[in-house]
Amino acid sequence: MKMILLGPPGAGKGTQAKGIAARYGIAHISTGDMLRSEVREGTPLGREAKAYMDNGQLVPDDVIIGMVKNRIQQPDCQNGFLFDGFPRTIAQAEVLEQITDIDRVIDIEVPDERLIERISGRRMCPLCGATYHVSTHAGDKCSCGGTLYQRDDDKAETVAVRVREYHRKTEALIDFYAQKGKLLRVNGDATVDAVAEEIARELDA
Ligand code: AMP
Repeated sequence: MKMILLGPPGAGKGTQAKGIAARYGIAHISTGDMLRSEVREGTPLGREAKAYMDNGQLVPDDVIIGMVKNRIQQPDCQNGFLFDGFPRTIAQAEVLEQITDIDRVIDIEVPDERLIERISGRRMCPLCGATYHVSTHAGDKCSCGGTLYQRDDDKAETVAVRVREYHRKTEALIDFYAQKGKLLRVNGDATVDAVAEEIARELDA
């Protein structure tokens, strides 16, 4: 089972990806999480990516593609994997076609006006990567014990750039995968549980 989760920043891809990956016993591959870990460790790749990420822009395709090619060779990808935040450009999708066969693409759809509100209230755990929203989570502790923080690129000024990057470069992937007959569309403007149920229904069908 090889799948992709598509959707704008703040659509809930990370949250849904964890549930789907656990349900199907496949690896969850978040290129955003991988990049943040490279930045934290101060690797050359992390140093190159940081300036783009801080500005809300996409990291160059060749950097991402090299990282993903290595990642899918890891043993935990043997049963399959779920990409979260990759591919984000047609060029990335075209290279992906050459290296593996994707079975399903789930597009989580959320209107722009809801994204800003969702992202600006988002808090993340530095230890396990879990995300919470301030409206439903009191305090600053993760269930794993980590202290929640706000991602730099979740601040209002950067969010607008990320949404613009999505419309300019990523949204075209919806048609790209629809034409291949691989696309499932899900309404993401609902509770986490309702979205999870709709995804499960679509995948089971
Ligand atoms: P995310 O956690 O998926 O929202 O990603 C955070 C940031 O990492 C994005 O705003 C981009 O700067 C970068 N990034 C993550 N995945 C990709 C990708 N597939 N292509 C280019 N940049 C990416």
